[in-house]
Amino acid sequence: MAPAKRDYYEILGVPKNASKDDIKKAYRKLAFELHPDRNKSADAGAKFKEMSEAYAVLSDENKRSQYDQYGHAGFDRMYTNEDIFRGADFSDFGDLEDILRNFGFGSRSPFGSGFGSFSGRGGRRREFGADLEAESSITLEEAASGVKQEVEMYRTKECGRCEGGGAEPGSRASTCDQCRGNGQVQQGRRMGGMSFFTVTTCPKCRGEGSVISNPCRGCGGSGRVREKEHIKITIPAGIESGMRIRLEGLGEYGRDGQGDLYVLVRVKPHKFFERKGDELWLDAPVQFGMAALGGKMDVPTLAGHVKLSIPAGTQPGTVFRLKGEGMLDMRNGKKGDEMVRVTVDVPKKLTQKQKELLEQFAKESGDKKKKGFFENVFKGFF
Ligand SMILES: [Zn+2]
Ligand SMILES: [Zn+2]
Repeated sequence: MAPAKRDYYEILGVPKNASKDDIKKAYRKLAFELHPDRNKSADAGAKFKEMSEAYAVLSDENKRSQYDQYGHAGFDRMYTNEDIFRGADFSDFGDLEDILRNFGFGSRSPFGSGFGSFSGRGGRRREFGADLEAESSITLEEAASGVKQEVEMYRTKECGRCEGGGAEPGSRASTCDQCRGNGQVQQGRRMGGMSFFTVTTCPKCRGEGSVISNPCRGCGGSGRVREKEHIKITIPAGIESGMRIRLEGLGEYGRDGQGDLYVLVRVKPHKFFERKGDELWLDAPVQFGMAALGGKMDVPTLAGHVKLSIPAGTQPGTVFRLKGEGMLDMRNGKKGDEMVRVTVDVPKKLTQKQKELLEQFAKESGDKKKKGFFENVFKGFF
């Protein structure tokens, strides 16, 4: 078994309510402390990876809220190590580039192609597709059993005609004459008898090193097309309203990696049931007579209905538990219970006969108690 992971907030030394800025500052500070020139300890690399993982999660709003909700145990079930780093933005740490490179970040990242947006030295910026979001609305019954749905959406994909290259099939991109294929140009400037050179991305080919003279007719040379798509999603049993499902690689196209699609699932309110964690709560109105005398009543469950025994003398607010009739807890795979809360129905309209019987009942009750209501029940309060 892997050793227990440390809390991400603890790793970065920030409080649970830290702002994005605080998190960024904490990460920057720690990264400098772990600089290989200053820090010769053997575990600097492992520490660096640990805090970068913490930063990748806490700097991403979705991932952070999922981590807050489910902790390491739940979070690690939703994300692989590579997914944790996918889409993480380390571009604000350009000044740390050397350190990051030293620890294996950058163009050949140990975390897969989805990591960060480092440009390397000059040349074109690495390009990753953006994540997309969609919403899906389901019923509580569907949340209980799980359901397959289809969402319709537009997204960019690689152009099939030119295979993303942007050149019309049969033609080829030619080497850029301004940078001679380097993707970057040097600009010289003289100041006080000294020459200064700055290296910038080539403006003509935008760092590509090549130019397309005969653009693809399918995409106009961009290498991508926008298409309407029907995407099938499987919503797992037990899903809670507000949870997101991640569909890897179904986001926007990017030359260095596709984005992901996040589907936000909303569970519509139910006519009878209210969900609390893995429990389903139901208010069951019981006739006054049945509450007093006892009896059996039909109670709905998500799967159908069951007969519930109401013991004689059941008070309003009494809760009965129906084992295993609740929602699936995704974290442990166990089913919760249905909780039936009794409310007592006081009849609003009475027939003459009912009226007579109740008057008789009231009289009988008064005779039995002998004393007045207040004297009996609230004795000692007055
Ligand atoms: Zn094309
Ligand atoms: Zn160029």
